[in-house]
Amino acid sequence: MSELLPCPFCGVWNNLSVKHDDGLSWVKCHGCGATGPETTKYSGDDGEPVTDWNTRAQQAKPVVDDAMVDRALIAWIGPLWSLLKDHTVKRLKRDMAMTLTAALSTGE
Ligand SMILES: [Zn+2]
Repeated sequence: MSELLPCPFCGVWNNLSVKHDDGLSWVKCHGCGATGPETTKYSGDDGEPVTDWNTRAQQAKPVVDDAMVDRALIAWIGPLWSLLKDHTVKRLKRDMAMTLTAALSTGE
């Protein structure tokens, strides 16, 4: 199988697979559940779905930066922000970055 670029939504690179069903093929990220783009042009060597996945991954721009994540978390948590432990802050920042990235990528 051709090399797959990391998931443009969550950054996972080692848990991706090509799926086939009902004449369609696509790449699935097992980190966040992102799929696609779907193609009917499966050639037997996973070429087309991998190419489509990699094209989208290359086009994806990092639209969420650290400042955006901080503003979203402060707005969400409010004054309690300063009471959180470092490891909790780190996890919340990662989760918020993934959530914002996914939301902005799908327009939801
Ligand atoms: Zn993902």
